[in-house]
Amino acid sequence: MSDDRKLVEDRLGQLLARNDPEVCTKAEFLGARFDLGLAWVEFEEGLGGLGVDRGLQTLVDDRLAHTPTPWTNFIGVAQGARAIHTFGNRAQKERWLRPCFTNEEIWCQLFSEPGAGSDLAGLSTMALRDGDEWVVNGQKVWTSYARHARWAILLARTDPTVPKHRGLTFFVCDMHLSGVDVRPLRQADGTDHHFNEVFLDEVRLPDAYRLGDVGQGWAVSIAGLNAEREGQGHLEAPIDALLDTWSRRWDHLVVDRRVTLDRVVALYSRSCVNRWTVDRLRETRRDQPGSEGAMTKVAHTELVQDIANLTLELLGAEGQLGGEYARMLEEHVDNPQLGAIRSRAASIEGGTNQILRNIIGERILGLPGDVRVDKSLPWNEVPR
Ligand SMILES: Cc1cc2nc3c(=O)[nH]c(=O)nc-3n(C[C@H](O)[C@H](O)[C@H](O)COP(=O)(O)OP(=O)(O)OC[C@H]3O[C@@H](n4cnc5c(N)ncnc54)[C@H](O)[C@@H]3O)c2cc1C
Repeated sequence: MSDDRKLVEDRLGQLLARNDPEVCTKAEFLGARFDLGLAWVEFEEGLGGLGVDRGLQTLVDDRLAHTPTPWTNFIGVAQGARAIHTFGNRAQKERWLRPCFTNEEIWCQLFSEPGAGSDLAGLSTMALRDGDEWVVNGQKVWTSYARHARWAILLARTDPTVPKHRGLTFFVCDMHLSGVDVRPLRQADGTDHHFNEVFLDEVRLPDAYRLGDVGQGWAVSIAGLNAEREGQGHLEAPIDALLDTWSRRWDHLVVDRRVTLDRVVALYSRSCVNRWTVDRLRETRRDQPGSEGAMTKVAHTELVQDIANLTLELLGAEGQLGGEYARMLEEHVDNPQLGAIRSRAASIEGGTNQILRNIIGERILGLPGDVRVDKSLPWNEVPR
């Protein structure tokens, strides 16, 4: 066994010996996990990691599969933390990483705007420097969990006179600051549970909240987005729910059983392959996630949708009973109808699957680039 693997094994042993997940709170357990360097193993010691190969995270995830996880704070843990660790200074890392991992401080993502979704680099929110502060004005949309968030990662334009990718800077935004106005969006399913618009009106951010250099915002956001996409690929697909439905409905199936069996096994196999692919990416990309996260996200989201569709098919008429969606959300009921509705969003959030296929084509396969007529024009000269 390598020294690094032994170190991780030892820390796992210490964590589980000293912290019974049945007894301590989620924050206590995750705090202990962070302090032992088992949050993101490749991060620096003292900052949630052990400075070892990222491939060893799989060992941690597998061993801690039945203990409290940090994924309620997905934006913070999968994306914000990566940006902070890669581009932040020591004080920023010490301030933000631990409460992010323990879920004591929830994070959201202020990227998308009414005129900038897939074309994220074209965004209009401005941050103008005023001494040691930045004054931010603009509007964001589709901001998941903004109502609960203490902090946000924010991409804003600091120089409109250069081409769009070069004029961006990355900030952490305190969601409690004056001028941050969060307005929930009521959804077509009757809930206002998830999304928000966020208006930023003369919000004054200290320069100490900037991550990376001025004008480096695109690179910082890509580091975070790669991690978010790889992280989504690693989420559990609802294959157990499918297997459960399939075995319960065995005697009532109207379709040919062998055909159904074949489809269930095919989906189960895809779920195994996806997980192994993420594990392999961690082993090949030892320091941090790369653009290959686009592959695992496309594969995962299409799998989740195919599982949801087959599950509803197996349920027959029962699969159409979705009327209590709002209540299920409120009570966190995990059921196939809810899963099927939610699965449609998976191939849009974090970059649509069309955009991710462009990334796979251009950055991984080396195919010719998409048509981008505004790429080298100064942002303020692009007609809009
Ligand atoms: C569940 C969910 C959660 C989200 N959470 C957040 C969040 O917390 N913070 C945040 O900032 N945003 C969030 N979003 C927004 C999300 O990032 C955007 O919806 C997404 O990037 C697409 O942008 P858009 O909706 O403006 O669609 P558009 O960019 O207008 O795209 C419309 C359609 O055109 C296609 N298209 C556009 N350009 C191209 C191209 N060059 N090649 C091929 N096809 C193209 C797209 O694939 C899509 O099908 C969330 C979205 C969802 C669904």
